[in-house]
This record gives sequence, structure tokens and C-alpha cells, in this order.
Amino acid sequence: MPLCDRFGRPIDYLRVSITDRCNLRCGYCMPEEGVPLRRHEEILTYEQIVRLVRVATEIGITKVRLTGGEPLLRRGVVGLVQKLAQLPEIEELSMTTNGTTLSEHAAALAAAGLSRVNISLDTLDQDRFRTITGRGRLADVLHGILAAQEAGLAPVKINTVVLRAVNDDEVVEFARRTRTDGWHVRFIEIMPLGSGTCCADELFVPASETKQRIEEELGPLEPAYVTGNGPARHCRLRGATGTIGFIRPLSAHFCDLCNRLRLTADGRLLACLLSDVEIDLRTPLAHGLPDDRLRNLLLQGIAAKPKGHRLDERAVPQEQLMSQIGG
Ligand code: SAM
Ligand code: SF4
Repeated sequence: MPLCDRFGRPIDYLRVSITDRCNLRCGYCMPEEGVPLRRHEEILTYEQIVRLVRVATEIGITKVRLTGGEPLLRRGVVGLVQKLAQLPEIEELSMTTNGTTLSEHAAALAAAGLSRVNISLDTLDQDRFRTITGRGRLADVLHGILAAQEAGLAPVKINTVVLRAVNDDEVVEFARRTRTDGWHVRFIEIMPLGSGTCCADELFVPASETKQRIEEELGPLEPAYVTGNGPARHCRLRGATGTIGFIRPLSAHFCDLCNRLRLTADGRLLACLLSDVEIDLRTPLAHGLPDDRLRNLLLQGIAAKPKGHRLDERAVPQEQLMSQIGG
């Protein structure tokens, strides 16, 4: 029997942010000047993360995704992957990364037991890449994608936030890559969150518009199945090995399918990306709370999971940034 919340949604997925630091400054996520970072001693140690994940697997978590900030910036991440991959109940261990240093790590991550990666990439043009991310080189990310494919971190999924008058004219090219390069592309609607709040209305492109644009150029999208955890609807272009997904955080459908909990880098358990209900796990961990008490805290977090967010009403804890929550 899977673990369910009070609305009957099975909860089997934990997203773990391992750092709030990042080497990019995507305008919708992090302001150019950065964000106030947690002190080193406020961040969970790898031992604490492994312990929490182990306890979480004992109540039904089977899928774990590492994220951040940029998870590959934290030293020793390959060792963490290795320890987590050894937990017997984990069926899938994945990572979301901006891909800028992935080419250095992909082979070691795969050998350590990582199942697959999601790579965030919003444009295929270097100048735009610089504008969107504030820094960084597109070529590094493209190398990272190739390295991930070669290492067998499959399927490699590409996360693309679609932004009006910034990259919305590239959605067809991204879709084409599902045929030519086997990419699995997930188009994400911008969320009015953190530094994205100011500009989200003018940048917002509905998934329906992205889909229409692709179908007009490349033909009809057919329903498809793809391994994964997200509230994305998947489809496929005729003849493509890769798939296309649309992530619509503003739609009610998104919350109905939500199967996840989040752990922030400083040890707060969030039952919903956009709720301000959180449970501090770092203090109990530091005080050596036994496993059964930790388990109860995790169950409390699940019990507090709201039916849905109120993102469309801008009911968002404004101080929260994706880089801090763990996107
Ligand atoms: N640094 C890693 C990366 O970029 O993949 C992991 C963390 S990042 C916060 C995770 C995902 O959140 C990225 O795919 C990013 O595009 C997405 N994201 C960040 N802010 C967002 C926003 N305001 N709306 C929609 N997606 C956002
Ligand atoms: Fe960094 Fe990822 Fe946020 Fe971009 S989306 S600023 S890469 S954490």
C-alpha cells in the first residue's frame, strides 16, 4: 500500500536541495546580486541527508531527486549519490542541474548510481544564454548533455522555461531536438516566485500556446509515456525518440498529481513548493532524535500537505526563491 496524504495522493517522491549556491543568475530564479546564503553550519551535512532519506524510504519514499541551487557545485556530491544509491528502497535517484559542469561529473555520477538527470536549458543561442543566465557558456551545457547521454543517464530531460519575447521563438527548435537528438524536452510555464514575481506576467507563455506553435510547424503531438515523476503531460512528435512535456504549475491538474515532498538545503521539510508550512528537521537531527521521532516529523509534513497552491492569487511566501527551496 503506498503512503497517501489526506487527499489520497500517493507520496513517494522527495526532492532534496543540497545547496542554495549557484553559478548562474537566471532572472526568474535568482537576482543578479545573488541571495543571502545560509552559513556553512546551517546546511545539512551529507550524513544528515543520507539519514533523513533513509528514514523517508522507510515510510514509502522510493524516488529521490537532488537539486539546489546548483547541486554539482557542492563538493563530494558523487559520494552522496553513491550512499543514497545504496539505500535498498530507492528505485530512482535523479538530479536537476544547470549542466554547466556536468561534463566533468556525468561518468562518475552514473557509476555512483545516479539514474538520470534533468538539465535546465532555455535557449540554444549563446548571446541569449548569457542574457537569461547572467553568465555562463552554452557550450558547457551542450557538452554536459552529450556527456550525460554517453554516461547512460537516460532519459536525459531538458527543462525549458518558456519566456515571452525572450525564447518563445525557440520552442520549435527545442521540439525538433526530440527527433534529431533524442532529447526529452519539458516546457515549463514561468511561476511568479521569488525574483520571477516581478516579471512573470509579461513573460508568461501558456503551455497551450507553446503546443500550438510546435504542432503548426512540426505536425501533431501524440500521447506518450515517459519514465519520471512530474506533473507533466507527455507527448511525442511522429518519428521522434524523445518526448515533449508541458509543466503548468498554475493549473489545478498540477496539484492533483503532486506526489512530492521537499527538503531544503538547511533542513526544512516543505510539503508544497508554495505553502509556508514547514517543519524544521535540522535541529532534531543535530540533537540526535531517534529514527521513529524523525519518521513522525516526516508524517506530520505529509499530513500538512495542502490540496493545492494559490499561485494564481499570488499567495506565495515571497521570501522564497526557487534556488532556496530547491526547484
Ligand atoms: N540549478 C539547477 C537547475 O537550474 O536545473 C537546479 C535548481 S533550479 C531552481 C530547478 C528548476 O527550477 C530549473 O529548471 C529552473 O528553470 C526552474 N525554475 C526556477 N525558477 C523558476 C520560476 N520562477 N518559474 C519556473 N521555473 C523556475
Ligand atoms: Fe541557478 Fe538553477 Fe536558479 Fe538558474 S534556475 S539561477 S541555474 S538555481
